[in-house]
Amino acid sequence: MTCDYHLHTSRCGHARGTMEEYVLAARDKGLKAIGFADHFPLYWLPAGKRDPSLAMEPDELPGYIEEVRRLQKKYPGIKIKLGIEVDYIPGFEGELARLLRRYPFDYVLGSVHYIDGWGFDNPAYLEQYRDWDTGELYKRYFQLVRRAALSGLFDVIAHPDLIKKFGYRPRVDLLPLYRETATVFKQAGVLVEVNTAGLRAPAGEIYPAPAFVHECVRQGLRFTTGSDAHAPEQVGEGLNQVRLLVSEDRLVEL
Ligand code: ZN
Ligand code: FE
Ligand code: FE
Ligand code: ZN
Repeated sequence: MTCDYHLHTSRCGHARGTMEEYVLAARDKGLKAIGFADHFPLYWLPAGKRDPSLAMEPDELPGYIEEVRRLQKKYPGIKIKLGIEVDYIPGFEGELARLLRRYPFDYVLGSVHYIDGWGFDNPAYLEQYRDWDTGELYKRYFQLVRRAALSGLFDVIAHPDLIKKFGYRPRVDLLPLYRETATVFKQAGVLVEVNTAGLRAPAGEIYPAPAFVHECVRQGLRFTTGSDAHAPEQVGEGLNQVRLLVSEDRLVEL
């Protein structure tokens, strides 16, 4: 039974379709449960400096929550959860904790999309990959992912090897980084997201990579699944490939 806990909405400024269209797509594809997890406001930036094409504004959150409630009532045949995808920015943990307490989210996905202010998963800033040794870049990225897990702010670590998105792969063996990170995930008590958006990216591979999944399984971790849909037709996309990576009994229903 397939669940998709990573759906965006047009409120983030770079996704399209109404939330109802996402629900109808999920119903058509026979999904058991879904969760909206749109981008939380860019809380670490002052109001005037936030990019409306990256995330909703704080005043849009009540409408987002209300629309999830409305759809839950209208479509009782499919479980619909209220989630959110939140950027991890070191140094802002206290501020984020204070903000998240205000909202009744069923779960919070924690994402590393920024390395020292660089939005490395944004195609607009691709040239900055040239400033890095890829091995060092991966080390820095996974360090942030571990800090995100240990922050206690997140239930799930989303797309845990997003750094591979554009296909930059280091020559060094990644196993030690995977191992260390999976160990920290276990300590932190987080769930790990199997995210199929990597199949649509130049990486051409689900997040996390098979060897990383393997280390997580060795640690006894459990997983959620998500398509990271930014359009209704992407709901559930690639989730049929998840079973090749993770056995059904390790998948969590939120
Ligand atoms: Zn997005
Ligand atoms: Fe993300
Ligand atoms: Fe996302
Ligand atoms: Zn995402």
